[in-house]
Amino acid sequence: MTAPQAEPGRPPAEAPIIELRGVTKVYGEGALAFQALKGVDLRIAQGDFVAIMGPSGSGKSTAMNTLGCLDRPTTGEYLFKGVHVEALSRDERALLRRRYFGFVFQGFNLLARTSAQENVELPLLYRGESAATRKAAAARALDAVGLKGWEHHTPAELSGGQQQRVAIARAIVTEPVVLLADEPTGNLDTQRSHEIMELLWRLNAEQGITVLMVTHEPDMAEYARRMVRFVDGVVDSDTLNPHPVGLRGKPAPVVAAHASQGVA
Ligand code: ADP
Repeated sequence: MTAPQAEPGRPPAEAPIIELRGVTKVYGEGALAFQALKGVDLRIAQGDFVAIMGPSGSGKSTAMNTLGCLDRPTTGEYLFKGVHVEALSRDERALLRRRYFGFVFQGFNLLARTSAQENVELPLLYRGESAATRKAAAARALDAVGLKGWEHHTPAELSGGQQQRVAIARAIVTEPVVLLADEPTGNLDTQRSHEIMELLWRLNAEQGITVLMVTHEPDMAEYARRMVRFVDGVVDSDTLNPHPVGLRGKPAPVVAAHASQGVA
């Protein structure tokens, strides 16, 4: 079979940064086996902002774990920048994860009794960066999330919204290409939730970070350009949002430009 030819006069469509092809995931074995993903196809372009929605148990977390290279599909293919993730070893996946992905969780997952600065430095410590490099990068990341001046506060001395900002600073300090956020506003009140969404929107719009966010809240999903809905282990709908909230409204607070994306 010959390779498909591009139409004359038309540039070939840009390859997606992420592509799932027929991904299934089965937990357990034999009579106890449970199929959490039943054949997921998904293409995500670099710079997209996708809200992942759907009822509890529909496979969202399983899909996120797969996308974040934490887990492997049972069958099917996962291409990240053209690399077959499903064929990588655990160590290779860890390298890919550390190089390209940032993670934000509902519960912030910060180290208690540890300053904001040290929390943000942690991923760089794992990378073996020098103290001076870590300090400068953490200061930049905290500035980018609006926490300049809060470097020495511990999580207990910060509001929920500020703790999530620290967690976002920790996620972006490594200059990820993709940010995976699992219900990032799930523990926050409405006002703080919108502030966090504006921050994610700016990271996407101004720095080009691809954002994939699980949310149960339609108001928060409105910030995304695209909404993917899971039902019973498959993508039930995949729609574009013609008017993402961040583009509609008020001027967003100024955020310091973070270092450019290190796309290899
Ligand atoms: P969601 O994030 O949409 O709530 P999940 O991906 O967490 O859905 O779960 C999908 C289904 O897979 C659920 O029925 C859940 O019970 C099951 N499941 C998830 N993780 C495991 C696991 N480690 N072992 C067995 N079943 C699991």
